[in-house]
Amino acid sequence: MTAVKERLPAQGTPAPSWIYIDGTWVSSNDRATFAVHDPATGEIGGHVLDATAADAVRVPDAAAEAQRSWALTPSRARAEILRRAFDLVIEQQDVLASTITMEMGKSLAEARAEVTYGAEFLRWFAEEAVRIHGRSEEPPEGTGLLEVRRRPVGPCYLVTPWNFPLAMITRKLAPALAAGCTAVLKPADLTPLTALRIVELLSEAGVPNGVVNVVTTTRPAPVADALLADSRLRKVSFTGSTQVGRVLLRQAAEHVLRCSMELGGNAPFVVLEGADVDAAVDGAMLAKFRNVGQACTAANRFLVLESLAEQFSSKLAEHASRMRIGPGAEPGVELGPMISDTGVQRALAIIDDAVDRGATVLTGGRRLERAGIFLEPTVLADVPAGSRALAEEIFGPVAPITRFHSAAEAIAAANDTEYGLASYVYAATVDAGDAFARQIESGMVGVNVGIVSNAAASFGGVKSSGLGREGGTEGIEEYLAPQYAASPLPRFA
Ligand code: NAD
Repeated sequence: MTAVKERLPAQGTPAPSWIYIDGTWVSSNDRATFAVHDPATGEIGGHVLDATAADAVRVPDAAAEAQRSWALTPSRARAEILRRAFDLVIEQQDVLASTITMEMGKSLAEARAEVTYGAEFLRWFAEEAVRIHGRSEEPPEGTGLLEVRRRPVGPCYLVTPWNFPLAMITRKLAPALAAGCTAVLKPADLTPLTALRIVELLSEAGVPNGVVNVVTTTRPAPVADALLADSRLRKVSFTGSTQVGRVLLRQAAEHVLRCSMELGGNAPFVVLEGADVDAAVDGAMLAKFRNVGQACTAANRFLVLESLAEQFSSKLAEHASRMRIGPGAEPGVELGPMISDTGVQRALAIIDDAVDRGATVLTGGRRLERAGIFLEPTVLADVPAGSRALAEEIFGPVAPITRFHSAAEAIAAANDTEYGLASYVYAATVDAGDAFARQIESGMVGVNVGIVSNAAASFGGVKSSGLGREGGTEGIEEYLAPQYAASPLPRFA
């Protein structure tokens, strides 16, 4: 592998064909690369180095080497670097948003919103970095002194998905860096370009060499095997499917790694008695169709009170049918392409299954006959129990609606899933919605709102949706381990 010191790819130039280890962009030169495609056109937007397990084994050297000095860097200095990174990301919002839209497909408006949301983690954890508190006290016996301080867990392996190519990275990197941890980042192979841009900006903001390293690859399993075999990595933080999360949890057992797992969801969206149907439809549009339905927090099942179901379904179908579909970079587009053929095929199979069981397609249901990977926004009414649409994470712009007759029936249905990430409740009042929300088994719940993500909030799931939290005051805890020190009294005399 040819190392090219200090030659960073220029902003806005065609995609870099490099990975980043110990502050060095490693050129692909004679090495294998893979293409990154624009899902709106099928065109190639760049090439990235396709790292092998043999490449990956080198990376922990850099992260482990940098760990000690980064942990000893005063928290104020770490905070200021993160704050500079926030400013740079905001300054580069347009370039970053275009990169996200090109490789992931979402509309430019949504991509710009992702940049703002993702940048917030840098600002938030810049603020949290200087508030890592410990405690010091006399033990009950009155002799000696006990001190509990919180130390960084050590080098972290961070694995991220394609659906939020920027925010899923900053949501991990910002707290890791704030806590004093170094990192090996493995972004999704469908969206590596945004990751490389973020690393450039972190370096520009002053993150020292070796503190953040990136491995791009189309071979995530052997790369994970190679990295997780190295006992110097002390934590794995993963965002992705529950299926892959389980694999990594098993692997993490070998070296007893700290684990954070942000996994799949199957969010219920419940419309209760007295709910404002128009407000519920507005919330549903956000909760379902944002990110082309490809969000772990996406409303997956609409559970609507029998007496409101007709009105809710027809209004949702009407709104969905009016959405402007097209390449995310075109002005005014509301629904971009899905990320892959596999994703569309799966969504179509889920629609067919529901229809075979007796559901009605109120709008959509077809793939658009044009270049790119476009699925019409789809609303399905009267979806029977047992349908795949209710049981599985759809991860596409498909809204299955089912009816309930009593709150008890709705709670049972809402909890009838292995997942527990997000849920949404629309009710006559926030109090009524909140009383219902407390009975739902999910890590996050929106009451009379259709979007829950916020850098200041604690994001994460229960049940098979994951372990740990990102964002909020909890987010940095995932990267800290208490160290208790015992000493004789009087220590400071
Ligand atoms: P995925 O699990 O296929 O991939 C996620 C990441 O894991 C990618 O970087 C991929 O390359 C890597 N990976 C795949 N197989 C691996 C293996 N055997 N070992 C190590 N790494 C491996 O998920 P995806 O398709 O990229 O993303 C969609 C899923 O992510 C959905 O289930 C969604 O709900 C979930 N998600 C969850 C959250 C959350 O915060 N809970 C956020 C976004 C997405």
